[in-house]
Amino acid sequence: MEEAKHFIGSEWVAPAGGETIPVLDPSDGQPFTQLARGSAADIDAAVQAARKAFDGAWGATSAADRGRVLYRLSTLVAANHEELAQLEARDTGKPLRQARADATALARYFEFYAGAADKLHGETLPYQNGYTVFTVREPHGVTGHIVPWNYPMQIFGRSVGAALATGNACVVKPAEDACLSVLRVAELAAEAGLPAGALNIVTGYGHEAGAALARHAGIDHISFTGSPQTGKAVTQMAAENHVPVTLELGGKSPQIVFADADLHAAVPVLVSAIVQNAGQTCSAGSRVLIERAIYEPLLDKLATAFNALRVGPSHADLDCGPLISAKQQRRVWDFLDDAQHDGIPMAAHGEVIHEAPETGFYQAPTLLRDVPPAHRLAREEVFGPVLAAMAFTDEDEAVALANGTLYGLVAGIWTRDGGRQLRLARRVRSGQVFINNYGAGGGVELPFGGVKHSGHGREKGFEALYGFTVLKTVAIRHG
Ligand code: NAD
Repeated sequence: MEEAKHFIGSEWVAPAGGETIPVLDPSDGQPFTQLARGSAADIDAAVQAARKAFDGAWGATSAADRGRVLYRLSTLVAANHEELAQLEARDTGKPLRQARADATALARYFEFYAGAADKLHGETLPYQNGYTVFTVREPHGVTGHIVPWNYPMQIFGRSVGAALATGNACVVKPAEDACLSVLRVAELAAEAGLPAGALNIVTGYGHEAGAALARHAGIDHISFTGSPQTGKAVTQMAAENHVPVTLELGGKSPQIVFADADLHAAVPVLVSAIVQNAGQTCSAGSRVLIERAIYEPLLDKLATAFNALRVGPSHADLDCGPLISAKQQRRVWDFLDDAQHDGIPMAAHGEVIHEAPETGFYQAPTLLRDVPPAHRLAREEVFGPVLAAMAFTDEDEAVALANGTLYGLVAGIWTRDGGRQLRLARRVRSGQVFINNYGAGGGVELPFGGVKHSGHGREKGFEALYGFTVLKTVAIRHG
């Protein structure tokens, strides 16, 4: 991996503009390496390389052979697991064990899509006598992938794994805040035998390299994960070329806990669903809706768990690492200032260890109680380790609260009542529902994506393969 270069056509290429971006370690706020600052010229070179691969060696590769390349890549990721985890931990600030889990998931994405590559097929359709009609699923061509900083490896794996399995050639613009692991994986992909140009990485700022990718006329599909505002801008840019966009935009996911729930099982999951990755998870369980009869006892248990949480540098491998940047830290502080100003009680908070450098971007996990449903803390995505608790009286109120935001990504339902499990699973508006468990981030095999402002389209699982292909209908008249 070469410092401050793009990966285009399987080569390390210096940025056309010659400029770089410093990369900060969130654990101490200090720069430790640099990235190439990509421009429209770099994106154009990457799109051309991808098109050449699609029209050439990669486009001519059979589905089974695409699967074999992805399987070799999965093996190489597994072989380099610790190096990738260390890189991800330093770059994002997340505790090492979380980065290791991300590296394991990355290998699994490539393994899953390796196996799926030759299982996707069309159908034969009944039509008029004298005709044979069938459908084929074809790759879009060149796909653009805009990846955020919270799970660089995992989000890269889920999106690029499915795109490559279906035969697309990819141009990836990872986030300026964290993308070193993605660059290393691109190098491993070349080692796995992926033809030059099938996977290209251009680093840089969103408004420069990202926007150049979103508006490039040579792109056939865009997969975007990030904020709703940027998702809207990317969609508008892509619309200029009528390019389809898959959007994954985060959420304000509720965990609904009824009085009959197994609280012993629920509490650790409720805590980890908001503390994992310092709450910077699109599917973070950031609201806990509690049936009034157990409101106080459950809050006591949650408070005990929050008070025991310890926060520190990634290498200390504690419950929680720093936030990604000073900008993200200010965003979280702004929410907490509002809570204080509006008299929302803080029920508990964790502790940042003394050894944590003062220049790092730390925020102790915080439990807020009695959050009014109309308050921004109950409705907007904080993207930090802040859990908003509120009470409900019955199922109808629980559903109204759960559905009472603009988002709809994931929901957790905790109850032993089978009928209620099924009723709520249907009534809650979200892309995924977990009953008596919660799957923040996990589940390579499970289709994932949102409704409402959480986005549209599905990634992960076999379902993603449909999104990365277009359906062609072939009608043959043979008499
Ligand atoms: P963002 O949406 O600005 O960035 C995500 C990606 O989009 C990055 O690669 C970025 O470089 C790129 N980008 C930014 N502006 C662009 C543009 N004009 N054109 C094309 N690409 C562009 O997100 P952020 O500023 O890093 O974080 C802000 C908020 O977004 C967070 O607080 C959080 O709420 C949300 N977020 C959500 C997720 C998620 O997984 N859903 C991930 C990261 C951030």
